[in-house]
Amino acid sequence: MNYYRIQEKFNYPDDLAAIYQEVYEAFIKYYGPEHEETIFNAFMSTKFHLSGNGKNVYEVLVENGFLKENEEENAMVSFEDLKRSSGVHHANAVVEYVNGEYKIVDIERCIVISDFRNYSLSQFFATIIHEAGHLVKGHNDGFRIEGDKLHNRSGLIESIYQLSVNEKGKVIDTLISEKGVGLEEGINTYDEENIMKEFFDPDFKLSGYVTMGALARKILDNFEITHEVREAQFNGNKEEIREKLLNEKYDELEHKMDEVYALNLEMFANIFDKEKMNEIAFNMRNKISEELFNVYDEIRDSVGKKK
Ligand SMILES: [Zn+2]
Repeated sequence: MNYYRIQEKFNYPDDLAAIYQEVYEAFIKYYGPEHEETIFNAFMSTKFHLSGNGKNVYEVLVENGFLKENEEENAMVSFEDLKRSSGVHHANAVVEYVNGEYKIVDIERCIVISDFRNYSLSQFFATIIHEAGHLVKGHNDGFRIEGDKLHNRSGLIESIYQLSVNEKGKVIDTLISEKGVGLEEGINTYDEENIMKEFFDPDFKLSGYVTMGALARKILDNFEITHEVREAQFNGNKEEIREKLLNEKYDELEHKMDEVYALNLEMFANIFDKEKMNEIAFNMRNKISEELFNVYDEIRDSVGKKK
């Protein structure tokens, strides 16, 4: 599937189109031809926006009508986190309430990337690879409705929203649970690093989720679960990865990665308060060495015994 049709649809400026095409082709090589159709459909369904010229990622999202007021509550990533971020992938289901039933009538998707090409072209590529990574891993069956709940899946992340109708007849969704964010961010960061080094810049160094990426690398490289992870990320089938990592142990690992990720975000949020930051970093290191690695070792010991 040729990139040409994507360019025909969005008509990106030539310099950007060349960059997006390189990323698209690297994705098919890295994730494998079995995911080519998903990658093509994802790029076809989603416009890439740039932020810059004094506007941050958050402001570009608002300007294009992609953020709703109540969306921040309970979510692991807050609006303040978004204002600091170098890029974002955003997907939103438009839900209507018709004849006593909730129905998904549209799915809005977009990507916003900070335009820092003049500062670091390598970092610009890495941000596109990271955000487009979220895009392709959440594209298939990302949203479904069960009764009065909206379920969203993005890679390994599972979120559930309570649906209700306000006095104006508009459907409101309120996030009630979210899991798998730490593991998904870690793996997506691991992929970002691998793709950058293999296709674009052998000397590439991660900035951002360095710890999450390293933790995911430890898990993926040592348990040989790449196939099972991709099946879960691209197609929403978590059965194989859960089975391979001993079901409840997988759930524990996922939960510990969420806790580490939350501390990681808190650290970024306190970047100008050195004392506070050191304290959070200390807690995070403890959480990793005393809790996360315990679960990891338990899986390793049991999986090892099976062989
Ligand atoms: Zn991410």
